Amino acid sequence: MTARPVELRSDTFTRPSPAMRLAMAEAEVGDDVWNEDSTVHRLESLAARLTGKEAALFVTSGTQGNLVGILSHTQRGDEVIVGDQSHVFWSETAGTAVVGGLQLRPLATTTRGLLDPDEVNAAIREDDVHNPRTGCVALENSHQWSGGRAISRSEMESVAEVARDRGIPVHLDGARVFNAAVALGTPLADLVAPVDSVTFCLSKGLGAPIGSLLCGSYAYVERARRWRKLLGGGMRQVGVLAAAGLYALEHNVDRLTEDHEDARLLAEGLAGLPGFRVSPREIETNMVFFEVDPPLVASELVEQLATEGVRVSTTGRRLRALTSLEVSRDDIVRAIDAAARVKGAATPAIA
Ligand SMILES: *Cc1c(COP(=O)(O)O)cnc(C)c1O
Repeated sequence: MTARPVELRSDTFTRPSPAMRLAMAEAEVGDDVWNEDSTVHRLESLAARLTGKEAALFVTSGTQGNLVGILSHTQRGDEVIVGDQSHVFWSETAGTAVVGGLQLRPLATTTRGLLDPDEVNAAIREDDVHNPRTGCVALENSHQWSGGRAISRSEMESVAEVARDRGIPVHLDGARVFNAAVALGTPLADLVAPVDSVTFCLSKGLGAPIGSLLCGSYAYVERARRWRKLLGGGMRQVGVLAAAGLYALEHNVDRLTEDHEDARLLAEGLAGLPGFRVSPREIETNMVFFEVDPPLVASELVEQLATEGVRVSTTGRRLRALTSLEVSRDDIVRAIDAAARVKGAATPAIA
């Protein structure tokens, strides 16, 4: 008997449920490039309302949302202030440089995944013929590389205020901003009020197969619509996908707390095993980053866990496990048991 694998590599592995597929099958559709898909309209209206912005645009991915989002704030030759531990800087194939002719200015990221307001202020360019213009500042929340930290509204405001005073727009890479809002107990619109634009993913913990939303002012979203078309993101009868997104927003937001509890339990279980290093106190959303001491090696541990049907991922020395609606409480217990067997240690009881 082979049990179903425990999928902790990413929350992007979530698959559309039968109910979500039914909603997709029943979706009304039209040509969205002609702006005639009523299901897309419903999704974009809901996204705008939830984020408290005037308008929203359905885009293919978080990467496209961030690229279109940043391009719509900037002009060729501008500089964009980003965190040196941000997804935009590390993992978006330099799209801002390739497509936008933009220069990224990475600043040191705090342990909580934020930028230092004074450093942002100092990094904003003076008006001088030698200098690029600062086009925008990009933040990330929840912040992935800091371990999925949920950054509060006041923390984001501290950076956004500096930018606003200098007339610089702020974009938020909110791929998992619903996780942050749920973890903080802050309504999403309040949380993202300090920023001018925000992208969030439907295709991660929210469980849709594809899609992200880019939200901002009416004029901004109109500019974004043009950039999306330029990037090949003008989609036609895409209501079938928007229906999955609507279903995700209506059914899969509140349950994110379960994923956060599972992540905390996983961290506590791993922290109890000899040779595993992880701080359960630092788990705020659905991500568990951990390290192992020699003789354990991260890449080997990934393989050993995989033979036990437990899938985690690794980036260098760090291992990463993400909880999601694909992962049950029993799966968490199985994952901890498997990790304990790798060490040959006794499995501690978990509540
Ligand atoms: C996943 C992710 C993205 C990009 O999303 P894709 O849909 O995979 O392109 C952007 N930012 C962060 C922080 C992410 O985790």
